[in-house]
Amino acid sequence: MDQIINHATISSDEIIRPTRLEIDLNILSDNFRAIKNHVGNAKMMPILKANAYGHGLVRVAQLMEKLGADSVGVAVLEEGILLRQNGIKIPVLVLGGIWGNQIPHFLKYDLTITASSIEKLKQIDEIATSMKIKAKVHLKIDTGMERIGVHYYSAENLLRESLKCKNLEVEGIFSHFANSDNKELDYTRLQLERFFEVLRFYEKHSLQFPIRHISKSGSILQMPEANLDMVRPGLLLYGVYPSLEISHTIEVKPASTWKSLVVYFKVIKANHPVGYGLTWQCDHDVRSVTIPVGYGDGYFRSMSHKAEVLLRGKRYPVIGRISMDQIVVNIEKDSAYNGDEIILFGSDGTNKISVEELAEWAGTIPYEVLTNINTRVPRVYLNSDR
Ligand SMILES: *Cc1c(COP(=O)(O)O)cnc(C)c1O
Repeated sequence: MDQIINHATISSDEIIRPTRLEIDLNILSDNFRAIKNHVGNAKMMPILKANAYGHGLVRVAQLMEKLGADSVGVAVLEEGILLRQNGIKIPVLVLGGIWGNQIPHFLKYDLTITASSIEKLKQIDEIATSMKIKAKVHLKIDTGMERIGVHYYSAENLLRESLKCKNLEVEGIFSHFANSDNKELDYTRLQLERFFEVLRFYEKHSLQFPIRHISKSGSILQMPEANLDMVRPGLLLYGVYPSLEISHTIEVKPASTWKSLVVYFKVIKANHPVGYGLTWQCDHDVRSVTIPVGYGDGYFRSMSHKAEVLLRGKRYPVIGRISMDQIVVNIEKDSAYNGDEIILFGSDGTNKISVEELAEWAGTIPYEVLTNINTRVPRVYLNSDR
């Protein structure tokens, strides 16, 4: 989980491996502020699940806390515990479903629980009573995702029941959009309308609303009316847009750059195939460089024969199959030396390869490209005085 795990280091700040994910904390801060400015009075709950979309859970949480985030969201209990063990003090909502024997840990570490059914709500209240701790919960309403939560059409019972629980505080109520990364927003509007219907319960009984939240990156960009009391930006915070088709109403920049170094140079003779399965060869001699990164780091094998990298400001194709630990790049007649920097995604100032492009090559979405970069790749923080 931790960003340092798996890395032999010579000293505390020298990392031996030439492959690295550089994370610019200034850019992350700018992105946070750009989103914050856009949503006005709504509270901010940056989403830090899956190692902060690959950017390093604890380091990103520290920055968010410093920037004044009202809370953060993670997916699983262990991510929440890790934040507390590393001194994060702001509220942490664990967004995912819970298992009964996890509840004492939530309470012990002061983590906010997602209550997604009446049964779970009662279980939380019981355990909180026996531990003499007041549990903090957010009620989860399913408005059309069919994953977890009480259906909008039967949510009233959950809300009613929550008022009877003596040892829990319903701090929030939320739902999740299933299709907000598209331009077409009919279903998203329907989900928002369903959520409003559920929330009428509080008005009907002259009760104060808990913190109401439903919006994520796609809808933060496209549907300001869904901001409500709080927004939950994930991907956008890291400077990546959920899809190419939606309008970029907030200007963000990619916070991470995936780099490596040339470790080998050679000439590949005509008709000499490259890599496993002998899938690539050329009818003339070419110069090539080998880079120590592969699908074992999260550089998808499915990008074989499509991927390109940046070297000295120019794009070159990855040739042959992507191996577990190495790739070969065709530089034709150009020159390169051991130790030259390669950019797998990111920008060298003028030229750029985007996370979105890698997603395209791999037949997936930008979310998976970022979360797939595994712990073997050291995370290096720029502007880490932040
Ligand atoms: C992942 C997640 C988000 C963030 O989604 P993005 O599209 O990355 O902004 C928000 N809310 C919930 C419940 C999530 O699981």
